[in-house]
Amino acid sequence: MATSYAWARGLDPSYPDYAGLSADAREALGWAQELDEAAQARQLAAIGRQNPELATVTIAEIAKGESISATTVRRRIAHARFELFGSLSDRGIRDRKNRWQELKNRPPKRCEHEGCEEELPIDLGRPRRYCSWHGLPWARAHRARLRLRRSPTPEDGAHGDTHENKAGLAVRAVRTSS
Ligand SMILES: [Zn+2]
Repeated sequence: MATSYAWARGLDPSYPDYAGLSADAREALGWAQELDEAAQARQLAAIGRQNPELATVTIAEIAKGESISATTVRRRIAHARFELFGSLSDRGIRDRKNRWQELKNRPPKRCEHEGCEEELPIDLGRPRRYCSWHGLPWARAHRARLRLRRSPTPEDGAHGDTHENKAGLAVRAVRTSS
């Protein structure tokens, strides 16, 4: 079976890990996308159809154009895939990309820090609650202090109990004397 480059399909700079790609990997991703289109064009041709929009390129042609070996083209493409998806399987990649599309179509989440309206970037890992500024330790400490100030402190509670106890004692004292 021919190598599939479907993992590269549809990836663009709005994909969360795109920004972290090395220059080589970014170029190789472009090659993978052309090779994926070529595969789609071959599939269409096989059923008697055509889509002139689809590139028809081969690894050999890319290698020639770049003056590198076909092996290097394959290796760089494999590396681009690794930079983007680690060792995820084709299926795992498909799920991840579907999740990305799903999140892209939702209204953006905003930072939950009070008074901050910053849009949160799409995150495919653990969902984030705060923007990069309000995710810093100082902001966490600030929120913790606010929470403490708003909820009754243990000290206040202790005072309350004391008053009640005094009242209770007073009542009992009256009863005893009568
Ligand atoms: Zn924020």
